[in-house]
Amino acid sequence: MAQVGVFKYESHLGADSPCRITQGVDLHDHDVPPSRVAWEAAAGQDWRQLQVAVGVTGGPGSEREGATVTVIDTDELAKRNARFADGGSFADLKLMPIGSLTVIGCVDPRVDPSDVFGLKPGEAAVIRNVGGRVTPTTLRTLEMLSKVVQARTGGPRPGDVHYAVLHHTDCGITDLTAFPELLADYFGVPAGDLDAKAVTDPVAAVRVDAEILKQRLPAGVFVSGLVYDVATGLIDVVVPSARVEA
Ligand SMILES: [Zn+2]
Repeated sequence: MAQVGVFKYESHLGADSPCRITQGVDLHDHDVPPSRVAWEAAAGQDWRQLQVAVGVTGGPGSEREGATVTVIDTDELAKRNARFADGGSFADLKLMPIGSLTVIGCVDPRVDPSDVFGLKPGEAAVIRNVGGRVTPTTLRTLEMLSKVVQARTGGPRPGDVHYAVLHHTDCGITDLTAFPELLADYFGVPAGDLDAKAVTDPVAAVRVDAEILKQRLPAGVFVSGLVYDVATGLIDVVVPSARVEA
């Protein structure tokens, strides 16, 4: 369960490495997602294996003195990439996903479709946003991708394409119900119509989004709606893969 509050973090890296994290609004267990906090650091800061002692003040139950944050820096990224490149399984991959699969999922680091579905490089196209929602931006992205397909193959082969919407339990988008105007803008609807987006219920929400895809995508493609349980690691097939009718 996410703890929400206003937190202040201060590092203890020594006088030569001043660093302050002054803003953070979400704390999942002992992890403070680096992307969700604001960093202020002196020039020349060495970020390698940065361990920040975190002093937390805020909402009820949020006191976690001594929690740590590890930042993956470019040195670490380059090291991991070198191992990937050594594997040599990328050179023959094609732009078109060989699994004929497009996943629309959430940015949450626990729900990477490559992990959840065991996808190999080149098997699927993946679009990720907050909640894995089908928004006007998502639809615009799909439209652009269809043009790429057209350019590369001379035309889409709808029978070969599966669009899977992947939502999940404990999604951070539920924290955004406190910001209805932000959500309304995200979905391109009036704030009064947000209930129809079922933001707090991933099962209902995935049905909503699969239905939008069925209405907006060309006949012949397959659409499904899945909900991943972050506690069990399993998906619930809420909307089984079905062909979009003409
Ligand atoms: Zn999420």
